[in-house]
Parts: sequence; C-alpha cells; structure tokens
Amino acid sequence: MNPLHAAAEHHLPECLCWLRRMVEINSFTTRVEGIAALGRLTAECFAGLGFEAEFAAPANPAHGSHLFLRRGTGRPVVLVTHLDTVFPPEEEQRHAFHWQEENGRIYGPGTVDNKGGTALIWLMLQTLRDTDPALFEQTPWLVAANSAEEVVGSDFAGQTRARCPGGARIVLVFEGGPRDDSGSHLVTARKGRLEYRLECSGRAAHAGSSFAEGVNAVVELAALLPRLAALSDPGKDLTVNVANISGGTVLNRVPHQAAAELEIRAFDPEVLHQAGQAVEALAGRTPGGAEIRVTRLGHTRAWPGGPDTDRLFEAWQHAGQTLGMSVLPMRRGGLSDANYLHTLAPTLDGLGPAGANAHCSERSAEGAKLPEYVLAGSFVPKAALNVLALGSLLRR
Ligand SMILES: [Zn+2]
Repeated sequence: MNPLHAAAEHHLPECLCWLRRMVEINSFTTRVEGIAALGRLTAECFAGLGFEAEFAAPANPAHGSHLFLRRGTGRPVVLVTHLDTVFPPEEEQRHAFHWQEENGRIYGPGTVDNKGGTALIWLMLQTLRDTDPALFEQTPWLVAANSAEEVVGSDFAGQTRARCPGGARIVLVFEGGPRDDSGSHLVTARKGRLEYRLECSGRAAHAGSSFAEGVNAVVELAALLPRLAALSDPGKDLTVNVANISGGTVLNRVPHQAAAELEIRAFDPEVLHQAGQAVEALAGRTPGGAEIRVTRLGHTRAWPGGPDTDRLFEAWQHAGQTLGMSVLPMRRGGLSDANYLHTLAPTLDGLGPAGANAHCSERSAEGAKLPEYVLAGSFVPKAALNVLALGSLLRR
C-alpha cells in the first residue's frame, strides 16, 4: 500500500469517530447553541494537532460564532469548511435522520455537507504530519469554519481575510467532491448570483362598476416575466430563474399590487452584470400604465476560475496520476465560500469526501428518496490525494 494511504487508513477510525460526534450535534444555521457546541468539539478535535481556537462573533446575531483554528505564523494555507446544516432539529426527528452506516454509505445530517469536509481536513493534516512532519510543522495553517454558510450575506469571508493580513498562500475549500465512474471531480469555478425583486404598482378599481379605471398590476407584471425568462442563455451559461410571484387581493377588485423575485447566475462576471442591467432597465412605466420598481436584493460575485486555479488543479491532477486516480475539473452553478475567498489567494474547491443528496433528509420506503450521505471509502483516497498535491505545491 502507498505510504500516504497507509497513514490515512491508520487515522480513519478516529476520523470517523470525530465525524460521528459532529453529526450527532444539530447545527442548523440559526440554532446558536448547536453551532457553539459543534465549534467547541471541532476545536477539541484539532487541538490534538496543535491548533489554537478562536471564536468570532458573526455580523448577524441570529447566527452562531465562526471558528478559526490557527497553527503557526505567516501567510497561511487556508482550509475552509462550515459548521451549519440546513436541517432544523424537528426535521431530523420527523425523518429519523441520524448517523446510520449502510453498505459503505454513512447517512446523516452534514455527513457530506459539510462535517465530512471538516473531518477530511483533520485526516489530511494527520496524514501529512505522519508522512512529512517537517512540512507540516513549518507550514502556517488556518482552518476557517463558517457558522452560516447555508445562508446568503455571510460576513465570514471578511473575517477570514482579516486573519490573513499578509495574504494567504492557497485557499482550499472542503465542500464535497463528487465521484462517479469517470473519476473524482474538483470544483474549479462557481457561478455568481444576482437577486432581484420587482414590484408593480397599478391602480385599484371596482371590477364591476369601474373596471376601465383600473390598471391591473398582476397583468402588467406578468407580461414582463417571459422577457426575463428569455434572458437565460445556455451558450453563455447564463440562467434567469423567476422564482416567485404574488399579487392581487379579492376577485372583485382590479389588483393594484404585484411582485416577483428572480435570481440570475453566470460564471462570467460581465455576462452576469449585463443580465442584471437588463433587469434593472425594466424599472419605470409599463405600456399599460403601471409602475415597476426594481430592487437588487443581493449579489454574490462569480468565481470564474482562471490560471491560478488551473495551476492548483494541475497539481491535483498530477497527484491523481501518481495515485492511479482520475481527477477531473468541474464548474458548478451552486455557491460556496470560494465565491467570496478566491480573491484572497489561488483557490480550489471540492476537496471534501464524496457523497450525495446534500440538503435531503427524507427516506421513502421503496428507496426512491434517500437522505444525505457520505461514502466512507472516499476519505482515505481523497486525504492521500490532497496531501500529495498540496505537499508538491508547498515544497516548490
Ligand atoms: Zn449545503
């Protein structure tokens, strides 16, 4: 057996033991006491590797504290994970969703998103310490664990940046890395997102006696929606999702108010920007005399990838060849902390274990619906791959 695999295999039982304890703590984003308990457990887990813990208050008091674990001084290698899950305690109970090992899969809340990622960071560092203690010792590390990754508008990236005053060497994000017959996928780009709310003001009128005096806000707004949907362009990897619509009140009234919300995603920041401009250009008067107001609800910048990420990816691909693993790049539409942190240092994502069904807790009798799980057999090969690739970069 390859010495990296042997070292990782040696630490796997303890790794899964930590993971199980993490999964058994409910850490739904707004369950502050659960996030705190998981933060303390994670600090304890990494204390054995010589990491010092710092808990940092989040911008939103409804969230728990972020956790920063530091070892050494200087420009760190930043290892990114998150503490929160999307499952409230009631949902876990309702669906009897808890740690359950079955045919190589471990089901449970956060097993792949993202407690498995945290456990893999630990396994990777243990493996590096065993196989190249000098490199482990001399490298400054910062494990950055977001308390509220599952909600938009996180301040976590700013706090991480503040802990790297001289910059960082590399940012590695330990979101799950999908694995299929073609190989292991690493994430090399993520779409950005713009979110909008459109409000339409018409004029109310009695639908029977003064219909002609009304300006129907529902009809005026609805007429715009196909135009918005048509902004989607597969050739540009641009999607426009009209997500919800509401308006009107009672049947005998011409509706004076309507609203819709939509989000736009693209890899190319310029494509994203132009689509946003097209939405914003709808503000003003409609042909039917209603007034449209456009509000931008949020903006998450795209991580388009590029030469810095490609250089990291090549190191992982090369390590994969050495270990007999096929390593492939993947561009994803979903967001992660890489969207916010890629400007800090060259960034690679998808470094966590493989699994599936993130954000699902239901299991149906016939197995058509299965909840989130991680593949127990993916920890050792991924830890070995990460150690070999990262080691090659750090020794350069
Ligand atoms: Zn998630």
